[in-house]
Amino acid sequence: MIVKDLSKSFNPLPKNKRVVNKKLLKDKKGVCELCGKRGQTEKHHIKTKGSGGNDTEENLIEVCRICHTKIHNGEIKLDN
Ligand SMILES: [Zn+2]
Ligand SMILES: [Zn+2]
Repeated sequence: MIVKDLSKSFNPLPKNKRVVNKKLLKDKKGVCELCGKRGQTEKHHIKTKGSGGNDTEENLIEVCRICHTKIHNGEIKLDN
């Protein structure tokens, strides 16, 4: 049997290594940090780049599109 789709049969990281790879876990999580909804998430900068925010883990939250919209139109206020 010839495996044609290598991306489905090849795991770049051993299973026990994946747990400590926080970045990878975070990217795969897909859970809104505000409402807990599963699905497509977007990264929101708690502090905007314009006011000195960076692309750091502390400054980014993953939110669903609905919550993201609410943050930006002021319906949801973030403590910070
Ligand atoms: Zn949400
Ligand atoms: Zn945003």
